Amino acid sequence: MDTLPPRHGSATRPDARPGVPPWSEPVVVRRPAVQTAPLVFSSPHSGRDYPPAFLNDSRLDMATLRRSEDSFVEELFGSAPDRGCPLIHATFPRTWCDVNREPWELDPAMFADPLPAYVNAASPRVGAGLGTIARVVSTGEAIYRRKLTFEEAEARIATCWRPYHQALAALITETLHRFGCCLLIDCHSMPSLATLPARERPPDIVLGDAHGTSCAAIATRRVEEALSRRGLRVRRNEPYAGGYVTRHYGRPREGVHALQIEIARNLYMDEGRIEPAAGFARMKALLGQVIGELAAADWSSLKP
Ligand SMILES: [Zn+2]
Repeated sequence: MDTLPPRHGSATRPDARPGVPPWSEPVVVRRPAVQTAPLVFSSPHSGRDYPPAFLNDSRLDMATLRRSEDSFVEELFGSAPDRGCPLIHATFPRTWCDVNREPWELDPAMFADPLPAYVNAASPRVGAGLGTIARVVSTGEAIYRRKLTFEEAEARIATCWRPYHQALAALITETLHRFGCCLLIDCHSMPSLATLPARERPPDIVLGDAHGTSCAAIATRRVEEALSRRGLRVRRNEPYAGGYVTRHYGRPREGVHALQIEIARNLYMDEGRIEPAAGFARMKALLGQVIGELAAADWSSLKP
Protein backbone atom coordinates (compact mmCIF):
# COMPACT_ATOMS: atom_id res chain seq x y z
CA MET A 1 0.00 0.00 0.00
CA ASP A 2 1.37 3.36 -0.93
CA THR A 3 -1.40 5.39 0.61
CA LEU A 4 -1.91 6.19 4.26
CA PRO A 5 -5.62 5.95 4.89
CA PRO A 6 -6.69 7.01 8.36
CA ARG A 7 -7.71 3.84 10.12
CA HIS A 8 -10.73 5.25 11.83
CA GLY A 9 -13.30 2.84 10.49
CA SER A 10 -13.16 0.56 13.49
CA ALA A 11 -13.26 3.46 15.93
CA THR A 12 -16.95 4.00 15.20
CA ARG A 13 -17.91 0.51 16.32
CA PRO A 14 -18.97 0.24 19.94
CA ASP A 15 -17.00 -1.99 22.28
CA ALA A 16 -18.76 -5.31 22.60
CA ARG A 17 -17.32 -6.05 26.04
CA PRO A 18 -15.28 -3.97 28.44
CA GLY A 19 -11.57 -4.28 27.76
CA VAL A 20 -12.10 -5.98 24.43
CA PRO A 21 -11.07 -3.89 21.45
CA PRO A 22 -13.56 -3.11 18.72
CA TRP A 23 -11.36 -4.03 15.76
CA SER A 24 -11.84 -7.29 13.95
CA GLU A 25 -8.28 -7.60 12.69
CA PRO A 26 -5.68 -6.93 15.41
CA VAL A 27 -2.88 -8.37 13.31
CA VAL A 28 -2.31 -8.06 9.57
CA VAL A 29 -0.15 -10.59 7.74
CA ARG A 30 0.77 -9.59 4.19
CA ARG A 31 2.16 -12.54 2.32
CA PRO A 32 3.99 -12.48 -0.99
CA ALA A 33 2.47 -14.45 -3.88
CA VAL A 34 5.44 -16.76 -3.44
CA GLN A 35 7.96 -16.40 -0.63
CA THR A 36 11.34 -16.32 -2.35
CA ALA A 37 13.66 -15.43 0.55
CA PRO A 38 14.04 -16.58 4.18
CA LEU A 39 13.20 -13.11 5.47
CA VAL A 40 10.24 -12.10 7.66
CA PHE A 41 9.46 -8.45 8.45
CA SER A 42 7.58 -7.46 11.61
CA SER A 43 6.23 -4.06 12.72
CA PRO A 44 4.82 -4.43 16.25
CA HIS A 45 4.53 -0.74 17.21
CA SER A 46 2.96 1.03 14.24
CA GLY A 47 -0.72 0.26 15.01
CA ARG A 48 -3.02 3.27 15.21
CA ASP A 49 -6.56 1.93 15.82
CA TYR A 50 -7.41 3.53 19.17
CA PRO A 51 -10.45 1.97 20.89
CA PRO A 52 -12.91 4.71 21.96
CA ALA A 53 -13.08 3.23 25.48
CA PHE A 54 -9.29 3.52 25.74
CA LEU A 55 -9.42 7.20 24.77
CA ASN A 56 -12.14 7.73 27.40
CA ASP A 57 -10.02 6.06 30.07
CA SER A 58 -6.92 8.06 29.23
CA ARG A 59 -5.91 11.39 30.74
CA LEU A 60 -4.10 12.09 27.46
CA ASP A 61 -5.41 13.13 24.09
CA MET A 62 -4.86 10.99 21.04
CA ALA A 63 -2.00 13.17 19.73
CA THR A 64 -0.05 12.60 22.95
CA LEU A 65 -0.78 8.86 22.95
CA ARG A 66 0.33 8.66 19.34
CA ARG A 67 3.86 9.85 20.19
CA SER A 68 4.52 6.35 21.54
CA GLU A 69 3.80 4.81 18.12
CA ASP A 70 6.44 3.85 15.61
CA SER A 71 4.20 5.63 13.15
CA PHE A 72 3.96 4.45 9.53
CA VAL A 73 6.71 1.83 9.91
CA GLU A 74 4.53 -0.86 8.30
CA GLU A 75 4.20 1.49 5.32
CA LEU A 76 7.95 2.13 5.12
CA PHE A 77 8.53 -1.62 4.83
CA GLY A 78 5.36 -2.11 2.79
CA SER A 79 7.17 -3.33 -0.31
CA ALA A 80 8.48 -6.48 1.43
CA PRO A 81 5.68 -8.73 0.08
CA ASP A 82 6.34 -7.45 -3.48
CA ARG A 83 9.93 -8.58 -2.99
CA GLY A 84 9.04 -12.08 -1.85
CA CYS A 85 8.99 -11.59 1.93
CA PRO A 86 6.04 -11.67 4.37
CA LEU A 87 5.28 -8.63 6.54
CA ILE A 88 3.30 -8.76 9.78
CA HIS A 89 2.05 -5.69 11.62
CA ALA A 90 -0.21 -4.83 14.54
CA THR A 91 -3.24 -2.55 14.04
CA PHE A 92 -3.73 -1.93 17.79
CA PRO A 93 -1.59 0.77 19.37
CA ARG A 94 1.50 -0.03 21.36
CA THR A 95 0.07 1.90 24.32
CA TRP A 96 -2.89 -0.52 24.36
CA CYS A 97 -0.78 -3.68 24.34
CA ASP A 98 2.96 -3.93 23.72
CA VAL A 99 3.85 -7.16 21.95
CA ASN A 100 7.56 -6.35 22.24
CA ARG A 101 7.33 -7.44 25.88
CA GLU A 102 6.80 -10.73 27.67
CA PRO A 103 3.06 -11.43 27.97
CA TRP A 104 2.88 -10.67 31.67
CA GLU A 105 5.18 -7.73 32.37
CA LEU A 106 2.64 -5.84 34.47
CA ASP A 107 2.81 -3.12 37.09
CA PRO A 108 0.70 -4.00 40.19
CA ALA A 109 0.27 -0.27 40.97
CA MET A 110 -1.83 0.10 37.81
CA PHE A 111 -4.42 -2.46 38.90
CA ALA A 112 -7.34 -2.32 41.30
CA ASP A 113 -7.10 -6.04 42.08
CA PRO A 114 -4.09 -8.22 43.02
CA LEU A 115 -2.13 -9.81 40.16
CA PRO A 116 -1.36 -13.54 39.88
CA ALA A 117 2.04 -14.82 41.01
CA TYR A 118 3.20 -15.52 37.42
CA VAL A 119 3.19 -11.80 36.60
CA ASN A 120 6.67 -10.36 36.10
CA ALA A 121 6.36 -7.15 38.11
CA ALA A 122 10.11 -6.84 38.68
CA SER A 123 11.20 -6.28 35.08
CA PRO A 124 13.07 -3.03 34.38
CA ARG A 125 10.50 -2.27 31.63
CA VAL A 126 7.73 -2.35 34.24
CA GLY A 127 9.88 -0.13 36.46
CA ALA A 128 10.13 2.39 33.62
CA GLY A 129 6.35 2.35 33.16
CA LEU A 130 6.65 0.46 29.87
CA GLY A 131 5.43 -3.04 30.57
CA THR A 132 3.08 -5.09 28.37
CA ILE A 133 0.35 -2.63 29.37
CA ALA A 134 2.20 0.69 29.53
CA ARG A 135 1.67 3.03 32.46
CA VAL A 136 3.17 6.04 30.68
CA VAL A 137 3.72 7.32 27.15
CA SER A 138 7.19 7.96 25.77
CA THR A 139 7.20 11.47 27.28
CA GLY A 140 6.70 9.95 30.75
CA GLU A 141 3.12 11.18 31.25
CA ALA A 142 0.72 8.73 32.92
CA ILE A 143 -1.85 7.26 30.52
CA TYR A 144 -4.83 6.32 32.70
CA ARG A 145 -7.24 8.25 34.87
CA ARG A 146 -8.32 5.08 36.70
CA LYS A 147 -6.94 1.74 37.80
CA LEU A 148 -7.40 -1.20 35.45
CA THR A 149 -8.61 -4.68 36.36
CA PHE A 150 -6.52 -7.76 35.74
CA GLU A 151 -9.37 -9.04 33.57
CA GLU A 152 -8.78 -6.11 31.22
CA ALA A 153 -5.09 -6.96 30.92
CA GLU A 154 -5.96 -10.61 30.26
CA ALA A 155 -8.38 -9.57 27.52
CA ARG A 156 -5.74 -7.43 25.77
CA ILE A 157 -3.17 -10.20 25.97
CA ALA A 158 -5.68 -12.75 24.63
CA THR A 159 -6.94 -10.54 21.79
CA CYS A 160 -3.72 -8.74 20.80
CA TRP A 161 -0.52 -10.20 22.26
CA ARG A 162 -1.33 -13.86 21.56
CA PRO A 163 -2.60 -13.41 17.99
CA TYR A 164 0.47 -11.35 17.10
CA HIS A 165 2.91 -13.93 18.42
CA GLN A 166 0.95 -16.88 17.04
CA ALA A 167 1.03 -15.34 13.57
CA LEU A 168 4.69 -14.33 13.84
CA ALA A 169 5.77 -17.73 15.14
CA ALA A 170 3.85 -19.41 12.30
CA LEU A 171 5.64 -17.26 9.68
CA ILE A 172 9.01 -18.09 11.22
CA THR A 173 8.25 -21.83 11.35
CA GLU A 174 7.02 -21.86 7.74
CA THR A 175 10.13 -19.99 6.61
CA LEU A 176 12.40 -22.33 8.53
CA HIS A 177 10.76 -25.39 6.95
CA ARG A 178 10.94 -23.94 3.46
CA PHE A 179 14.46 -22.47 3.50
CA GLY A 180 16.21 -24.18 6.42
CA CYS A 181 16.75 -20.82 8.13
CA CYS A 182 14.94 -17.56 8.86
CA LEU A 183 16.02 -13.96 9.35
CA LEU A 184 13.40 -11.95 11.22
CA ILE A 185 13.77 -8.20 10.83
CA ASP A 186 11.83 -6.45 13.61
CA CYS A 187 11.11 -2.93 12.41
CA HIS A 188 10.78 0.15 14.66
CA SER A 189 11.36 3.87 14.67
CA MET A 190 12.99 6.12 17.26
CA PRO A 191 12.41 9.72 18.24
CA SER A 192 15.21 11.74 16.72
CA LEU A 193 16.16 13.47 20.00
CA ALA A 194 16.37 10.34 22.11
CA THR A 195 19.48 8.95 20.49
CA LEU A 196 22.13 9.63 23.08
CA PRO A 197 24.96 10.30 23.75
CA ALA A 198 24.74 13.99 23.01
CA ARG A 199 27.41 15.92 21.05
CA GLU A 200 27.74 13.04 18.64
CA ARG A 201 25.78 13.30 15.43
CA PRO A 202 22.83 11.02 16.06
CA PRO A 203 22.54 7.90 13.94
CA ASP A 204 19.88 7.49 11.25
CA ILE A 205 19.55 3.81 12.03
CA VAL A 206 20.27 1.67 15.08
CA LEU A 207 20.59 -2.06 14.46
CA GLY A 208 20.05 -4.28 17.49
CA ASP A 209 21.31 -7.85 17.51
CA ALA A 210 21.41 -8.19 21.31
CA HIS A 211 25.16 -7.57 21.13
CA GLY A 212 25.74 -10.31 18.60
CA THR A 213 23.61 -12.99 20.23
CA SER A 214 20.29 -12.83 18.33
CA CYS A 215 21.63 -13.28 14.80
CA ALA A 216 24.74 -14.33 12.90
CA ALA A 217 27.30 -11.58 12.35
CA ILE A 218 26.86 -11.83 8.58
CA ALA A 219 23.21 -10.80 8.86
CA THR A 220 23.94 -7.66 10.87
CA ARG A 221 26.84 -6.81 8.56
CA ARG A 222 24.82 -7.25 5.38
CA VAL A 223 21.96 -5.09 6.61
CA GLU A 224 24.40 -2.50 7.92
CA GLU A 225 26.26 -2.36 4.60
CA ALA A 226 23.08 -2.18 2.54
CA LEU A 227 21.96 0.85 4.58
CA SER A 228 25.28 2.67 4.91
CA ARG A 229 26.03 2.26 1.20
CA ARG A 230 22.90 4.35 0.63
CA GLY A 231 24.17 7.19 2.80
CA LEU A 232 22.59 6.34 6.15
CA ARG A 233 24.55 6.59 9.39
CA VAL A 234 24.20 3.24 11.12
CA ARG A 235 25.07 2.37 14.68
CA ARG A 236 24.85 -1.00 16.42
CA ASN A 237 23.09 -1.85 19.71
CA GLU A 238 23.31 1.58 21.28
CA PRO A 239 20.98 2.80 22.62
CA TYR A 240 18.69 0.00 21.33
CA ALA A 241 20.09 -3.54 21.47
CA GLY A 242 16.82 -5.35 20.75
CA GLY A 243 13.55 -5.94 22.57
CA TYR A 244 11.55 -9.03 23.45
CA VAL A 245 10.79 -9.97 19.84
CA THR A 246 14.48 -9.89 18.86
CA ARG A 247 15.69 -11.73 21.94
CA HIS A 248 12.85 -14.25 22.12
CA TYR A 249 12.93 -15.38 18.49
CA GLY A 250 16.64 -14.99 17.77
CA ARG A 251 18.08 -18.49 18.21
CA PRO A 252 20.94 -18.63 15.70
CA ARG A 253 21.91 -22.17 16.64
CA GLU A 254 18.44 -23.31 15.53
CA GLY A 255 18.63 -21.35 12.28
CA VAL A 256 16.36 -18.51 13.43
CA HIS A 257 18.08 -15.13 13.40
CA ALA A 258 16.53 -11.86 14.56
CA LEU A 259 17.68 -8.29 14.00
CA GLN A 260 15.98 -5.13 15.23
CA ILE A 261 16.07 -2.01 13.11
CA GLU A 262 15.26 1.45 14.49
CA ILE A 263 14.82 4.31 12.03
CA ALA A 264 15.10 7.95 13.14
CA ARG A 265 11.63 9.44 12.77
CA ASN A 266 12.86 12.78 11.47
CA LEU A 267 13.96 11.00 8.29
CA TYR A 268 10.41 10.25 7.23
CA MET A 269 7.80 11.96 9.40
CA ASP A 270 6.79 15.22 11.01
CA GLU A 271 7.09 14.18 14.66
CA GLY A 272 4.96 17.06 15.91
CA ARG A 273 2.03 16.57 13.54
CA ILE A 274 2.48 12.78 13.29
CA GLU A 275 2.28 12.85 9.52
CA PRO A 276 4.52 11.46 6.83
CA ALA A 277 6.97 14.18 5.79
CA ALA A 278 8.71 15.02 2.54
CA GLY A 279 11.36 12.35 3.15
CA PHE A 280 8.80 9.55 3.44
CA ALA A 281 8.72 8.50 -0.21
CA ARG A 282 12.52 8.61 -0.46
CA MET A 283 12.93 6.53 2.69
CA LYS A 284 10.36 4.00 1.57
CA ALA A 285 12.05 3.69 -1.82
CA LEU A 286 15.47 3.30 -0.18
CA LEU A 287 14.18 0.59 2.15
CA GLY A 288 12.55 -1.09 -0.82
CA GLN A 289 15.98 -1.29 -2.49
CA VAL A 290 17.52 -2.63 0.72
CA ILE A 291 14.80 -5.29 1.04
CA GLY A 292 15.31 -6.24 -2.61
CA GLU A 293 19.05 -6.57 -2.12
CA LEU A 294 18.63 -8.65 1.04
CA ALA A 295 15.97 -10.85 -0.57
CA ALA A 296 18.33 -11.63 -3.45
CA ALA A 297 21.26 -12.55 -1.18
CA ASP A 298 22.39 -16.11 -0.45
CA TRP A 299 21.44 -16.82 3.16
CA SER A 300 22.42 -20.49 3.25
CA SER A 301 25.14 -19.76 5.81
CA LEU A 302 22.37 -19.00 8.33
CA LYS A 303 21.38 -22.66 8.39
CA PRO A 304 22.38 -24.44 11.57
ZN1 LIG B 1 9.17 0.23 18.56
